[in-house]
Amino acid sequence: MTIIADASAFPAIGAEPESLEIDRVFDAQRTMRARIGATTADQRIEKLRSLEKALLARRSDIRAAMYADYRKPAEESDLSEVYPVLIEARHARRHLRRWMKPRGVSAPLALFGTRSRIMHEPKGVVLIISPWNFPFNLTLGPLVSAIAAGNCAIIKPSEMTPHAAACMASILGELFDPSEVAVIKGGAETATALLRKPFDHIFFTGSPAVGKVVMRAAAEHLASVTLELGGKSPVIVDASANLDEAATKIAWGKYLNSGQICVAPDYLLVDRKISDDFVTRLKEKVEALFSQAGSRGGIVNDRHQQRLSRALAGALQQGATVLAGGVTDSARNDFVPTILSGVSPDGQLLQEEIFGPLLPIVPYDNLEDALRVINEKEKPLALYLFSHDRSVIDRVLAETSAGGTAINDTVVQFFHTGLPFGGAGNSGIGRAHGFFGFEAFSNIRGVLEQPMRRTPLQLMYPPYNAFKRRLIDLTLRFL
Ligand code: NAD
Repeated sequence: MTIIADASAFPAIGAEPESLEIDRVFDAQRTMRARIGATTADQRIEKLRSLEKALLARRSDIRAAMYADYRKPAEESDLSEVYPVLIEARHARRHLRRWMKPRGVSAPLALFGTRSRIMHEPKGVVLIISPWNFPFNLTLGPLVSAIAAGNCAIIKPSEMTPHAAACMASILGELFDPSEVAVIKGGAETATALLRKPFDHIFFTGSPAVGKVVMRAAAEHLASVTLELGGKSPVIVDASANLDEAATKIAWGKYLNSGQICVAPDYLLVDRKISDDFVTRLKEKVEALFSQAGSRGGIVNDRHQQRLSRALAGALQQGATVLAGGVTDSARNDFVPTILSGVSPDGQLLQEEIFGPLLPIVPYDNLEDALRVINEKEKPLALYLFSHDRSVIDRVLAETSAGGTAINDTVVQFFHTGLPFGGAGNSGIGRAHGFFGFEAFSNIRGVLEQPMRRTPLQLMYPPYNAFKRRLIDLTLRFL
């Protein structure tokens, strides 16, 4: 990796008062942004290649950090932390030359003779604030897009996964000078101090509540934002679904990372005709996938363990029944995959994002009822449908809105680098992944070149007369 500035100009990050550190790193990146922005596709590709190599070389450190933070199984760390960043980087490397090439656009008749193109230029200095639930994936994934688009980046990982934050700081510290990419560790106060800076773009992943705080701060500087938020992602299981297949895929998508996934199935709407049969299979699949020791990680910390325990107790008090699980071990922050029926529609579990291994089953009598339940809530980040009936698939897509959808699967849409990833309304603003991520970190500039000294438009410049008025009339009618 090229060292772009004299690293000795920077005291080690963390060795000085936080506000000074933020000022220093931000100012250094501001100074650097034009040089980083002018880098060629080859130079950016080389940076992405180095990041990929470092992730593979430090795979065991990443596994260790994830285990230390909340006992994430090593295989899950490989698949859900390292792999998504690698595919993002590989995809960007393969396509970057094309993405960076100005794209010509043909002229409308009224501007006949002009030559126009669309250019993607870097936004400049960007801030990436990330959550704890996939710390590597949701920090380094956006970083790949930021680097591909030619930006400098300051990263603020979550304070709730300190081992992951330290590991990322170490990996990135070896690859980049802080004047290009810097990690600043800390919690809400640090994020607040960072948000006072006039960033050129803020890419935030986290809860809708904090997303609003970020957007308010961005408004002070009119910084653009990408907000990757959460919400309640429903699953519909239609009577035409293959129940075994649906049960397996829902069990995996729901209880992976102990349900601490932004796109995890949040609640299940199941056709009443097949509900009992489906629940029996779901219980079997959950048992088969997650009952062995080491097959699932823990809840991230005491606060979230208690939040989930309270939510379960509240649901039971309001009349819910535990169909599976319901066992918690607060000493270890362990929460057994839990399935519930009879959950009150007004209770916390059907009103707030669950973000944990609790799954309410809500039977429905006709599709219209299921769609009403979904449409009464905020637009979800993901909507899942298990059905082999094309008319049901078309109807659900036409009559709902969501950030993304997978039909006959869960969660895997996240891994598709050709699909935009993001929310709608309360679940987010903007898009990430692949070209959409590159675009999020780019200013899309329209450029028109006028080769003619005298243009037809000048015939309509003032002062006006009868001839010009006639021309204007014709323009309005035909051009
Ligand atoms: P969070 O909003 O509490 O925290 C996210 C980040 O914001 C952390 O780095 C945190 O330090 C920082 N932060 C906290 N308070 C802040 C403040 N007042 N000002 C500025 N920054 C502040 O979210 P979380 O608990 O880490 O993650 C869970 C949430 O994130 C869930 O809602 C989940 O659905 C969502 N999420 C969304 C996606 C997505 O891609 N759409 C991915 C993962 C998680």
